[in-house]
Amino acid sequence: MMGGMLADVIDYLLCPVCRGDLTLGGGAVRCASGHSFDVARQGYVSLLTGSGVPGTADTPAMVAAREAFLGAGHYASLAGRLRELVADRTGGGGVVLDAGAGTGHYLARALGPRDTGIALDISKHALKRAARAHPRVGAVVADIWRPLPLRDACADVVLDVFAPRNGPEFARVLRPGGTLIVVTPTPGHLAPLVETLGLLSVDESKGRRVEEALGAHFAETGHLVEESEMTLGHQAVETVVGMGPSAWHTDPAKLRADISRLPEPIGVKMSCRISLFRKIT
Ligand SMILES: [Zn+2]
Repeated sequence: MMGGMLADVIDYLLCPVCRGDLTLGGGAVRCASGHSFDVARQGYVSLLTGSGVPGTADTPAMVAAREAFLGAGHYASLAGRLRELVADRTGGGGVVLDAGAGTGHYLARALGPRDTGIALDISKHALKRAARAHPRVGAVVADIWRPLPLRDACADVVLDVFAPRNGPEFARVLRPGGTLIVVTPTPGHLAPLVETLGLLSVDESKGRRVEEALGAHFAETGHLVEESEMTLGHQAVETVVGMGPSAWHTDPAKLRADISRLPEPIGVKMSCRISLFRKIT
């Protein structure tokens, strides 16, 4: 069990210290220079370096709530669309990197019969689940904002679902002709919760800012909007608000009180933009 899934992706990984090749054995991942990283009992490996403790790492309770929410199928239409888009690009036999993969929910559902998945996330709590989400997903703790512990041109598809975007690194790890798929919320996402709970709405210019952040390295080749209507209880409302941008996070006690005054169940809109990019070479 230990490292079984990492075996599928070890050839794509690099030592985060010296950028050397890595091998897997004896419950650890090692480079020729002697840098060693233990494989966790749950099957993921942390290739984070340095002493900085990531401030954005999720708690186990947050991760469990999100997995329950996603497992209930509220975002199933988005997952289905991503699967189609990935299959069109890998033909069912490629390497798919999910940057900010969380529990691996979307990656596990996007993989075709011979695809291999690499789940990167800063949260080890989320990756414990990602490592078990699919038999061909390798889960690696890494900071999306730093150089990724991955080889040049190793991925056929890079997925970024509601996650940070590192344009230069996404371009480096994507193979020529590969596709970057970015999912962002539209201004209509989670209506009417944004208004009734006084959350910060998604900036109208967000789509443009995504392009600006990626612009030097990527060109958009197309986009589509995926929408569905969700019927949510109060617990699910609390979870989906917690899954949003950090700007949405308000005082938890006040948020819970505000949610308790909503109708239950309540109809909530899921609305996101799926943008496709190719590398500028
Ligand atoms: Zn090394």
